[in-house]
Amino acid sequence: MQGQTRLASAARDVGAHRPRVIAGVARPQSVTEVRAVVRRAAADGHRIYPISTGRNWGMGSGVPSTDDNVVVDLSGLDRIRSLDLDNGFAVVEPGVTQAQLAAELRDTPWLLNVTASCADTSVLGNALERGDGSVRSRIQDVAGIEAVMPDGSLVHTGGLDTWGRYRGRVAGPDLTGAFVQSNLGIVTAMAIALVPRPASFGLVHGRIPRDQVGRAVGALGTFLRRGNPAEGLLRVRDIALVPSRGGWTVPDGVDPELFTIVGPLLGSGETVQLAEELLRKALLEVEGAEGLRVLDATAVMPDDPLYPRALMAQGIPTCRGVHKALGVTSCDQIDTGKMGFLALLPQLPMESRSTDNILQVLRAAVECNGTAAMLEWNLISRNLANGVIQIFFDRDDADAASRAHRLRQDAGGLLRGHGCAIYRSDIDNSAADLYAQSTPDTLGMLRRLKTAMDPYGLVSPGRYSA
Ligand SMILES: Cc1cc2nc3c(=O)[nH]c(=O)nc-3n(C[C@H](O)[C@H](O)[C@H](O)COP(=O)(O)OP(=O)(O)OC[C@H]3O[C@@H](n4cnc5c(N)ncnc54)[C@H](O)[C@@H]3O)c2cc1C
Repeated sequence: MQGQTRLASAARDVGAHRPRVIAGVARPQSVTEVRAVVRRAAADGHRIYPISTGRNWGMGSGVPSTDDNVVVDLSGLDRIRSLDLDNGFAVVEPGVTQAQLAAELRDTPWLLNVTASCADTSVLGNALERGDGSVRSRIQDVAGIEAVMPDGSLVHTGGLDTWGRYRGRVAGPDLTGAFVQSNLGIVTAMAIALVPRPASFGLVHGRIPRDQVGRAVGALGTFLRRGNPAEGLLRVRDIALVPSRGGWTVPDGVDPELFTIVGPLLGSGETVQLAEELLRKALLEVEGAEGLRVLDATAVMPDDPLYPRALMAQGIPTCRGVHKALGVTSCDQIDTGKMGFLALLPQLPMESRSTDNILQVLRAAVECNGTAAMLEWNLISRNLANGVIQIFFDRDDADAASRAHRLRQDAGGLLRGHGCAIYRSDIDNSAADLYAQSTPDTLGMLRRLKTAMDPYGLVSPGRYSA
C-alpha cells in the first residue's frame, strides 16, 4: 500500500469536486490480496474506498466521498472468470473492461450491452452505479455478485458460485441489489447477463427542431408502452440549453436549434422492420420526424459521425464519443484536461407536457447560473426515462467551475421539487440525495444494515450512506 504520502485529489477529477485528502492507494491483484487489504485497514483504523477503473467521470472519477480514505484500485483483478455461451452469462472481475469482454464475445452468439463511455471502463463498476448501456440499463445485466465484506468474509449472491460460475438464481433471499449504489462491501466479481446477438442491427437516427422535444419524448413513450418488438435503448439527446449571456461551454458541433433521436433496434429482419413501422407511426405528430432514418449499423462507415453509435449498437465499445465530447485524444487526459464535466442524473417522465415543464425549469436554472447544460432522455423502460444532464465548463476558470456546480445543485433541487428522483449521484451529493429521498424509517434500516455489516464504517464512508 502506498500509504505514506497523503495525496490531494484535485488534479485528477474532471468534475473539479471539492478536493479530498487521500491516505494512500492499494492495488491488490487477487481476492486474497483484497481480503488482506481489508484486514490491514481494520487493524490500522483506515477507511477504504474501492474503485474498479475509476472513470466515473462527472460524478467524482476515482475520488472518494470523504477525506483520509485509502483508495483500493481493483483494476488489477481483471479476469473473466467464466463465459457461458449456452445461456449467455459472463462472470467478470472489477478490472475487466468493456473492450476486454467485447473482444472475448466477438464471433459468439452474444454481445455486451456497452455504454457510450470509454472502452477501458469497468463493466462491473458501471453496473454497480446503475449505468446505462446501448441496449438497456446495466442494472438489468446484473445477475449475482461476489464481495469481500468488512470482516474479511467472502459472500456470494444471486446464485454466483465460489468457483466463478453462474448457473441461475438459487432459492432464498437475493441480496444482489443491496450491493448496488451502496457501501456494504468490496465487490470482487459479478455475473453479467449478455444480449443475444441479433440477425439485424438497425440504428435509428433523426435530427428534429428543438421545439418538438416534448412531443417526441411523449411519442416515444407511447411507442414503448404499446410494445417495441425490437431490443435497444432509444435516446432523445443533444438538447442544448444555453444562457443568453456568453462565457459558457458545450462540445464542438452542438446545434441548439435541433435535438437527436438515436439508438439501436435489434432483432430479426422482420422485428426490426416492424419496429421501424410502429416507430414512424408513433412519431407522425412530431414535426420534422419524417426525416428520421433507420440505418443498417453494420454498414455505417468510420468517417460517418454516426460511427460511434453504430459500433455501440453492435456491442463494440469505442472512446470516440468521449474524445469528441471532452476535446481529448486519449481518455487518460480527461481527468487532467482543460474541459470540466459534471453530470446530474434524474428519472424523467415520458410525457409531453411534463417534458416541456422540465425544460422550462432547467432553462431558468441555466439562465440564473450563466452555464449551459446538455440534456438526454435514455428511454430505459416503459415507465420512466433515465435523464442525463451534462454540464461542461472551463476548468481553468474558477468562476465557471463554481457556476457549473451551482447549476447542478440548483437543477437537482428544482427537479426533485417537480417529482423527478435523482437515481445516480456524485461524491459531493450522494449521501444528501439518499437522505433527501428516503423516509426516517428507511434510513434507520439502512444504518442498522450498514452497522451490522461494517461496524467500524471501513468501506466507502459517505458513498450513498454513512
Ligand atoms: C462523454 C461521456 C459519456 C458517458 N457515457 C456513459 C454511458 O453511456 N453510460 C453510463 O452509465 N455512464 C457514462 N458515462 C459516465 C462514466 O464514465 C461511466 O459510468 C463509467 O463506466 C464509470 O466508471 P468506471 O466504470 O471506471 O467505474 P468506477 O469509477 O470504478 O466505479 C464507480 C463507483 O462505483 C463504486 N465501485 C466501483 N467498483 C466497486 C467495487 N468493486 N466494489 C464496491 N464499489 C465499487 C465506487 O463508489 C466507484 O466510485 C459517460 C461519461 C462521459 C464523460
